[in-house]
Amino acid sequence: MAQSVWGYDKENGPEHWHQNYPMAKGDKQSPIEINSKDVRHDTSLSPWHASYDPGAAKTILNNGRTCRVVFDDTFDRSVLRGGPLTGAYRLRQLHLHWGSADDHGSEHVIDGVKYAAELHLVHWNPKHGNFAGALKQPDGVAVVGVFLKVGKTPKPEMKRILEEIDNIKTKGKEAPFQHFDPSILFPKSRDYWTYHGSFTTPPCEECITWILLREPIEVSPDQMARLRSLSKNGENEPMCPLVDNWRPLQPVKGRIVRASFK
Ligand SMILES: [Zn+2]
Repeated sequence: MAQSVWGYDKENGPEHWHQNYPMAKGDKQSPIEINSKDVRHDTSLSPWHASYDPGAAKTILNNGRTCRVVFDDTFDRSVLRGGPLTGAYRLRQLHLHWGSADDHGSEHVIDGVKYAAELHLVHWNPKHGNFAGALKQPDGVAVVGVFLKVGKTPKPEMKRILEEIDNIKTKGKEAPFQHFDPSILFPKSRDYWTYHGSFTTPPCEECITWILLREPIEVSPDQMARLRSLSKNGENEPMCPLVDNWRPLQPVKGRIVRASFK
């Protein structure tokens, strides 16, 4: 497997990642399954707060593996605080993982339930100087995970991202994406699970405080179809649907998942 070509296919998928990225076989890998019976309710966990500046949104892009929105993180402009975190973490990007059908696509699994998609909002701890520095620290990154479920009352707020998708159909495409406050995507409930884990994409650095929101947001079958209309190939190549860009479950290895709720 060449360095630059990890992916989700048979020949370059998650079972191969460790060949170039040994961390992928580490002891604190993500995603994991959350089993309610093993979760510890922690009364010391405080609520989390996001204060996002809509002006920090910059671009949306298709990198052949996901659809990503990038934010200006050169100063404390859009930050996440509270919950299990100490200090403010800066929002850098958000992206999604999804399936080829509605019954799978999320990375984390809740009591055996897979959702259609999972949204990740990636934040880093500025006390480590820059994003690259934060990746090397156990408290370097905080990711808020939001589950997407297909339902009858789809969240209109997803529209903005999905209508932009026509402009980034193929790998390498990028479009301006301005004035967007990603906190409109959060569900009503702020209840969360938290545990220490890793990025779910190579190099799978173990620097992440996960904050997984209990309440999923709803999307329509239409909206899911739009995500699946992205191509993992470039403009002059045959259309190849970008789907099933999720990593399978990883061993928990004694880690404790805490919940902010009972
Ligand atoms: Zn992700």
